[in-house]
Amino acid sequence: MHSEFPSHSSYRQQREQFLAAANTAGATLSAYAHPRCGPFGEPLSTDVAVLGDPQAKRRLVALSGTHGVEGYYGSECQIDWLKQFTPGSLPKDVAVVMIHLINPWGTAWLRRVNEDNIDLNRNHLDFGQPLPDNQAYARLHEIYACADLNGPERQRADALLAAQIAEHGWPAVMSIVEGGQHTHPDGLFFGGIAPSWSNRTLHQIIENHLAGAQTVMCFDLHTGAGEYGHPMLLTITRAPYPALPKAQSIYGPWLYTLHTGAETLSETGVAATATGYTSQALLDALPGVQLMPFVIECGTYPGPDVHRYLRDDHWLHLHGDPLDATGRAIKSSLLEQFYPADPDWRAMVGLRTRQIWAKGLRALAGEA
Ligand SMILES: [Zn+2]
Repeated sequence: MHSEFPSHSSYRQQREQFLAAANTAGATLSAYAHPRCGPFGEPLSTDVAVLGDPQAKRRLVALSGTHGVEGYYGSECQIDWLKQFTPGSLPKDVAVVMIHLINPWGTAWLRRVNEDNIDLNRNHLDFGQPLPDNQAYARLHEIYACADLNGPERQRADALLAAQIAEHGWPAVMSIVEGGQHTHPDGLFFGGIAPSWSNRTLHQIIENHLAGAQTVMCFDLHTGAGEYGHPMLLTITRAPYPALPKAQSIYGPWLYTLHTGAETLSETGVAATATGYTSQALLDALPGVQLMPFVIECGTYPGPDVHRYLRDDHWLHLHGDPLDATGRAIKSSLLEQFYPADPDWRAMVGLRTRQIWAKGLRALAGEA
């Protein structure tokens, strides 16, 4: 039965391809072992490949799989870039750091969240401080705790969600749900109450591979929000940061700048009310570095569709079995929502991501 767990390509295959391409490219590799296994019993890890001088003052970082199931897009882009890399082609004093699948459990099990149902992009917070208090979520939680996939209870949950949307509108309801919450570990967009394995590992990676740099461009790779087949380049932080004007001058009108806050709504499909984003973690961890935290977000299907499949997958991990027939069907649908099989979609997001990185490398090369 395990062999039937759906994935166009498993976590293990992505990892093998990444390591092979990194070795051929002459990268220096490090592995950060994860305590759990994947659905095939395979060991899991986050792998880091460094191309060029590890002490280079300027570094371009690509980070895949913050949301596990979205990691197939990011991993493919990283593998593709490594395959096209010619050793010795990097500009002087520029290095590339590829962080492969920071949430390996989520990628292997085809989940957006991690092994603790934590959304990593809501988990980068100072847990010594009071956590964001999203009281409005509590009123919606029963929609997501529904114990039935089909049947009367699910119909009731659907009706509750539909009533909320009719009253307040889709963007307002989603800004509450996707804003993140720290009170319901069995809820959607749970941000956790402590740093997750991936959070701690990212900080280790920052310390080991980014400390000492002067300028860092980081691309956190996502799918599932925005228009189908339209990759967006964003920078998402609580407030303007020192290198923001530089980031804006490099990418011009291609860059969408989004500052998050409790009252913010955005047209991008990205949750503007959320806190605990990876971008903010990088800024906080590298105060002396001229850091440009970017997000590449590749649109797939309409928000209500993505949300429905996320609810099904959430049900599966609370009440079902990911390895039975129902579980496998839900996983196949979820993978399609976050990594469409359509070859044109895949070609478009791959092309645009390479283009964005090439521009970034040219900008880093031009720096004195
Ligand atoms: Zn994402």
